[in-house]
Amino acid sequence: MTISGEATVVKNAGSHFMLSPLPVWSPFPAVLKGKVRLKGGDSTNPVAVGDHVKYSAIVQEGDDILTITLENPATISEILPRANHVKRKSTNLSRQSHVIAANIDMAYIIVSLYFPEIKLPFLDRILVTCEVYGVPVTIVMNKVDLYREEDPEYVEAFHRIYEGAGYRVFETSVKTGEGIDALREDCKDRVCLFSGESGVGKSSLIKALDPSLDPKVGEISDVHLQGKHTTSLYEMYRLASGGFVVDTPGLRGFGLVDLKKEEIALYFPEMLEASRECRFTPCTHTHEPGCAVKQAVEEGRISPERYSSYLGMLEEDTKFR
Ligand code: GDP
Ligand code: ZN
Repeated sequence: MTISGEATVVKNAGSHFMLSPLPVWSPFPAVLKGKVRLKGGDSTNPVAVGDHVKYSAIVQEGDDILTITLENPATISEILPRANHVKRKSTNLSRQSHVIAANIDMAYIIVSLYFPEIKLPFLDRILVTCEVYGVPVTIVMNKVDLYREEDPEYVEAFHRIYEGAGYRVFETSVKTGEGIDALREDCKDRVCLFSGESGVGKSSLIKALDPSLDPKVGEISDVHLQGKHTTSLYEMYRLASGGFVVDTPGLRGFGLVDLKKEEIALYFPEMLEASRECRFTPCTHTHEPGCAVKQAVEEGRISPERYSSYLGMLEEDTKFR
């Protein structure tokens, strides 16, 4: 008999996929029909982890998805519309992109103020990218055991800058365990994307959330992705405490957005808000009289750091023209 239903892609293994009817965790193999595969536009993997799909499978009378095997996998018949997705370039040279993950409820951007030292403009670029993709973001400040006592001003300033811009900022330490319960609680009932520069403690953090997970094992290096094997091998993990995690290697490849100069400010939420009062539209928020963004910076409602990142992005944009 044929069974059919909707499920979420929890693993993209290149030649096949694993699906699970989330929030139920019961992964079973599935393959694509040719015609679905063709629908991907410029993307090399039209089906991505997190995609909601329709499937059908032939099983013995009375059996269910638990009996679906790799030898007799389900067939994905349709990809349902995405709430959002995150892409990266397949290779440095090609113009093709591939989708890392879709339907992400929350992206946790892991940072550390020191060891390695954070570059705020770099973080702001990541945040802009998430805004463009329509993915909600939470910033996780990890390794606080190493610097909160030594540099409380910076920790406070960081909160002020990013909470002021409208982002949540969590503090965690894998070493002392503080903040881990709060983060674990926050991940519940969500499909979470974890991203962070190498060395910030992303793997340690995921392991602290659920000791049965070990993200370093089976990690995909950027080198691999930039080689000829563009097949992506992304996977979603279930946290024992609830929620699902997609681990992405590095942050750099994340930034696949081409923004026009006049669009950049739209993705700084606090600037977008202030810019409604600018006298001129469009306004670059640099020299125009009656610019409400510049006024907000002067009055301290927009942080100088964020504004400076914005100016940096504007300049860089011009350079490439
Ligand atoms: P990843 O590259 O982001 O996955 O980082 P890892 O999880 O491999 O961690 C990098 C290094 O930072 C390791 O030596 C970890 O033990 C250490 N580390 C991770 N989190 C913390 C933390 O909260 N406090 C301290 N002191 N060290 C940490
Ligand atoms: Zn303005």
